Formats: sequence, structure tokens, C-alpha cells
Amino acid sequence: MTDQYDIVVVGGGPAGYPTAIRAAQLGFKTACIDVWLNKDNTPAFGGTCLNAGCIPSKALLESSELWHRVHHETAAHGIGVGDIKLDLAKMQARKTAVSRSLTGGIKTLFQANKVTGLEGFGKLLGNGQVEFTPHKGDKQILSAKHIVIATGSSPVNLKIAPFDDQNIVDSWGALDFTEVPKTLGIIGAGVIGVELGSVWSRLGAKTVILEALPTFLPMVDAAIAKEALRTFTKQGLDIRLGAKVISAKNTGKAVDVEYEVNGEKKTETFDKLIVAVGRRPNTDGLNAREIGVAFDERGFVKVDANYKTNVPGIYAVGDVIGGAMLAHKAIEEGVALAEQLHGEHTQVNYNAVPSVIYTMPEVAWTGLSEEQAKAKGYEVKVGTAPFAANGRAKAMEQAGGTIKIIADAKTDRVLGIHMIGPYVSELVAEAVLGLEFAATVEDYALTMHGHPSLAETFHEAILSVDGRAIHAVNKVRK
Ligand code: NAD
Repeated sequence: MTDQYDIVVVGGGPAGYPTAIRAAQLGFKTACIDVWLNKDNTPAFGGTCLNAGCIPSKALLESSELWHRVHHETAAHGIGVGDIKLDLAKMQARKTAVSRSLTGGIKTLFQANKVTGLEGFGKLLGNGQVEFTPHKGDKQILSAKHIVIATGSSPVNLKIAPFDDQNIVDSWGALDFTEVPKTLGIIGAGVIGVELGSVWSRLGAKTVILEALPTFLPMVDAAIAKEALRTFTKQGLDIRLGAKVISAKNTGKAVDVEYEVNGEKKTETFDKLIVAVGRRPNTDGLNAREIGVAFDERGFVKVDANYKTNVPGIYAVGDVIGGAMLAHKAIEEGVALAEQLHGEHTQVNYNAVPSVIYTMPEVAWTGLSEEQAKAKGYEVKVGTAPFAANGRAKAMEQAGGTIKIIADAKTDRVLGIHMIGPYVSELVAEAVLGLEFAATVEDYALTMHGHPSLAETFHEAILSVDGRAIHAVNKVRK
């Protein structure tokens, strides 16, 4: 028997589950299929983000930050602590509980919004049909007017350093260590490499990050990236740029890694090796190509500006279509698609996307860096302000970091905001809101900020663009 839906979404991560919920809110009869199984064989919605990425990594980042701060910051506050012990099993159990409470929440949201959540594999059959194979039980055929591919992405598995789930692990495996490795190698100084490197280095692992590119965080404004590199190095992360890994061999007890710097071959042995060299789209077994869906040369599903594939009635959103592999970008695409299918004109503004690296201090940015703005031909004016002059940051004993504003000298419009500092993951929301409204430096300057607050540094950076910061030394550069 065929079950009839208006919309079937294949994939229940940050792209798929919001698509399904928003579609159901708009009156569509909607099903969402997800095949995810956790390592204990429990199925879950939420995809990589909630089960094996954003959320569990943030749980461990929080725990390891607390561990670090108890060791290094309590004395400055006049608090003496005794013998501090690490219970990694408990830390890991908390991480899992945080994830599970959120993935369970999606089921509740599905029920509340009348989305049919289906746990198992979805395969496109063409002609508006999807085959659903549940984890347990018989196959079913679903038919739908609209089918959405929201199957996400998986870590790239390098031939020279294949995952073995033991000593050479991907980002999921790196969240599940049962002991703190004495020595840890990481291939790739991207967002994952730096975040997971921070977790295990804070907990005591001697951590080396090998990055093939000569530049650290090339997507971040060069001045902010330089400060980040200096700060993370001071914290103990050994970040080696221009170091291209050629091979990695699990010897049973450890991993021998061979890499090349400036044409010179070097070797190093680590207890564990994390490979964090990017992610690739998940389309294996989906049958999309076979029924005529077009892919680009990198394996991403090709879509137009309204997320339509070349096959009528089939759409795609999230990591599987490429672009920034960020959960919030996927959520916005899913919501926009559901609303478009309802006849609305919702669009995603790709010029106002926040990015965050959850280190300590955090790195966050939106819009163009100074280098990108200049390359696009803008005549730029910039402003910066340090957290060192911020009362709240001083009181928190976290006064490291800088906020940088990049603006168009001709129109005064803000083009980008890049920052490193305490809780800049929260401050970036204000930055994005301004970009969304096409704010000028003057618009932000006229906006009052609470005192004392971290956001005052944002305001000071804005003021410094035109040399009128009160608490920071103005370095006007036009
Ligand atoms: P990435 O693309 O950000 O970084 C991978 C790095 O590996 C690159 O800098 C690359 O030059 C390097 N590399 C590749 N091959 C190498 C080799 N042989 N030797 C040395 N270096 C090599 O990928 P990622 O860090 O794996 O993250 C994957 C995706 O997940 C990204 O799109 C990221 O934005 C997203 N993500 C986001 C967050 C967040 O928003 N906080 C957190 C985690 C992941």
C-alpha cells in the first residue's frame, strides 16, 4: 500500500527536520525519514549536529573549559580549590544526555506539529515515490507531491589516513575517547580541528595540528586569525602550518604520521589521530542520480535559487547542496523552501551568515574580511577595539580579544564584522542583524549598548571606524 503525503523529507538533521516542521505548520501533510543510528543502536532525529557534531562537541567544550578555568582562573578570583579530579566517563555521559534530550525534543516537536517521523532509510524511486526501509519491519512506499533531499554530509575519509574507529578517528570518534590521549595528532586546522584540539588539549593531551595550508583560518580576517593563532598557541596547541600529511599508519598502539613541510619529510607518533579535513555530501544509496537528479563535479546536488533540482518535484537543502556547512544555514534553507512551496517568497540572505569557532576565547564573524572586501574592489575603512578596555570582560577575567569592523568608505555601509573574544558567539547576532538591515557605521554607532557589557566593545569598534571611540585608542585607517 502507498502512503500519500504532500511533502516527504529525506533526512532529519538541521536541514530536514525544520523543513518538515515548517511545512506541517503551513498545512502540508508531511513525513520526515531519517536513518541515523547512534553507536548504541538507538535511532534519533537531529543528524550530525545534534548526535555527533555541534551539540556534543559544545558539551565537551563547555566541560573542558570549566576544567581549564578551575585550574587556571580560580586563584585570580581568590578562590582556593583542593584536589581536582577528572571523571571522563561522567563528562561523556553528560554530553550524551545533552544530545539525547535535544533529539528526543524533535520527536515531541514532530508530534506537536503532526509530522510523521519515520526511522529508517529513504530511497528515491522517481515518479514522486520514496521507498522507506524501517530499522525494523517491512518496506513501505510513500508518494508525495514534493520530495526534499536533506541527507547532509559525512567526514571526508582520506586514503592516506583511513578511519579505523580505533586510533585514526573522525570527528564523531574524537568525541568518544574513553581516556585522554597522552599525545594527539589532528589533520586539518579547520573549525573541527581547532575545536576538538582545544577539548583534548585542555584535558591534558599534548596536541599537534597539522595543516596543509600556509595560512591559519583563511576565511577569517587576517588580523583576527593572527591573534587567534597567537592565543591558541599560547594555550598549548601546537599548530603547524604548511604541513601536508602524506601517510598515517595505525601500529596498534599508536599512529605513525608522515608529513611534509617546505619539501622536507618529517614523522611523528601520536596515541590518537583525528582526521578533520572537511565533509562530503551524503547521497550513497539514495538513488537520486539514477532517477536523473543532477550533481555537480564535487558530488553536491545541484539546485536553483529556490532549491529545485532539475527533476520536477524534487528539492534539496542543507549540506548536501554545498555552500557553508553550517546547521543554521541548513535550517534557514529548509524553512525558506517550505514557505516557497506554500507560495511565499522567503529567501536566505547568504551575505549575512554568522560563523563561530567555539574555542576560548571564541572566534566569530559575518560578512567580508578586510582582504575579501579589498579583493572585491571596495575602498574600505576599518575600526578595531580590544576587550582589554571592557569593564565586564575585566571583571570576568576574560579580557583577551579584539573586534574588527570592515566598512565601505564611500557609503559608510558595514561590510563585515570579525572578532575574537569572550562570548563573541552571542555578539555576532547583533552583527548579523545589522548586515541584514544593510546598516551603516552610523546606524550601529547610534545604537545604545548596556553598561557594563561585552557588547560595548562592539560599539567601541564601530565608533573607532571614524576615530571616535571613547575607551579604545583610535587608529583611523582609510
Ligand atoms: P574544514 O574544511 O573547515 O578544514 C579542513 C582543513 O584540513 C583545511 O584547512 C585543509 O587545508 C586541511 N587539510 C586537508 N587535507 C590535509 C592534509 N593532507 N594535511 C594537512 N591538512 C589538510 O573542515 P572541518 O574542520 O573538517 O569541518 C567540516 C565542516 O564542518 C566545515 O564546513 C565547518 O564549517 C563545519 N563545522 C562547523 C562548526 C561550527 O560552526 N562551529 C563546527 C564543526 C564543523
